[in-house]
Amino acid sequence: MAAAPSSLSSGIPGARVTPRSQHNVSRLQISDSALQVLNGLHRAGFQAYLVGGSVRDLLLGREPKDFDVATDAHPEQVRKLFRRNARLIGRRFILVHVQFGNEIIEVATFRGSANGKEDESSEHSETGRILADNVYGSLEEDARRRDFTANALYYNIADRSILDFSTGMEDLQAGRLRVIGDPEQRYREDPVRMLRAVRFAAKLGFTLDAAAQAPIAACRKLLQEVPSARLFEETLKLFLTGNAQTSFEHLRQMGLFAALFPQVDALLDDARYGSARILLQGALQGTDARLLDGKSVTPAFLFAALLWPALQQERQLLEQQGKPETVALQQAASGVLQECAGRISVPRRFALPMREIWDLQARFMRRGGRRPHALLAHPRFRAAFDFLNLRSQSGEIPATLVEWWEQFQTADHDGRRALIERARLEETGQEPALGPLPATSRRRPRRRRRSNHAKQGETSQPGGSDDGHDDGRAGND
Ligand code: ATP
Ligand code: MG
Repeated sequence: MAAAPSSLSSGIPGARVTPRSQHNVSRLQISDSALQVLNGLHRAGFQAYLVGGSVRDLLLGREPKDFDVATDAHPEQVRKLFRRNARLIGRRFILVHVQFGNEIIEVATFRGSANGKEDESSEHSETGRILADNVYGSLEEDARRRDFTANALYYNIADRSILDFSTGMEDLQAGRLRVIGDPEQRYREDPVRMLRAVRFAAKLGFTLDAAAQAPIAACRKLLQEVPSARLFEETLKLFLTGNAQTSFEHLRQMGLFAALFPQVDALLDDARYGSARILLQGALQGTDARLLDGKSVTPAFLFAALLWPALQQERQLLEQQGKPETVALQQAASGVLQECAGRISVPRRFALPMREIWDLQARFMRRGGRRPHALLAHPRFRAAFDFLNLRSQSGEIPATLVEWWEQFQTADHDGRRALIERARLEETGQEPALGPLPATSRRRPRRRRRSNHAKQGETSQPGGSDDGHDDGRAGND
């Protein structure tokens, strides 16, 4: 953690400067690629700063996820400097991605402030949301348009000092998340900032200051206006980056979970759906645990769990109206996904495996003849079984069903036959409980090997066994 900033003059209006001797950010902690970009810009006579999450995380002694650079060089100038490695991206506000090997350094030209008095450069919607924000500005303006004080610290490659135009250094030290400018106005400009507040509070263990919390109740409905693809990406960042449980608690507390998943939120306090909350918490806990173990997680499984309580409610309603079980499940799944898509659009490559996870749940109940063998061979068996496990842990289905499937997976030919027979007797009421298998039949059969290049959207269970066919990414490609 850094020492309190000194008030040395930087020659930059409004900036408080912490010289290198008074902070803990060392060049050794900055990636070579980021240093190349910073030094390249500096040598060419431009201002060059490391900014955002990387400075914040380094000051907190955490490893940054990536390195972002801010500069007064315009995108074309940046491209000329890093010709072979540079690519212009974005349409309205053009950024430069400078790539070295696998690492991409995002270089942004200082952006003009859309905060404060009416700014002709930025278009707003009726509720104040910024639609276009595409002018260049000064360093100070760039700082003012960032979201939180802790995210608006600039590491200056010229003298390795840190510049603070607000109260970032103090807030970092106090573990406080504070919005730059008027919180309500900043949420109106971009409602996603409310979700970012939750994400950073959860990730850093910070408290959101009272002023930042107060307008959320009035502004949370504005999330409806946010493009559904962006909300999908933000939801992934909230739940698939290792702090899902804390994020969920914060979201619930601030009424933001209700803004994202209203149908599910309503069930969480309903005693008739007591297992819903346990299932969700189990899924989020499993997700966090997998990430901690360096295992992959995918959106298909996450959304299968997030929307499951709503699906159950819909299905029950349809069954009460006389729809057969499978028809009710199909219709409920379509309905719930459609309802969700109005706010958060789950791309098809995740929605399809998600539906398979749901559809397969019914097939776990049918254990006669060849059916269990066919289900075991299904490409989505692993994920669906993990989901079954979650449901069992939440009390929704008996643990004996999961035990039966556990045994079936590891049993040999005879053992499987015995299990199928046992299930038949159990279902016809002739044998009540599922006992252990004889020792001889517990040999682990060879599992079919699957391609190393597992498909995107494939998932494996949070918290359970791992058969190594994950795709190694959180899936937000
Ligand atoms: P992470 O560790 O998740 O990457 P980050 O702070 O770097 O955290 P990014 O989404 O990478 O977050 O954004 C980089 C920086 O850009 C932020 O630190 C913040 O200064 C600014 N920023 C990003 N999104 C917004 C936003 N919606 N409104 C204002 N400033 C933003
Ligand atoms: Mg970042």
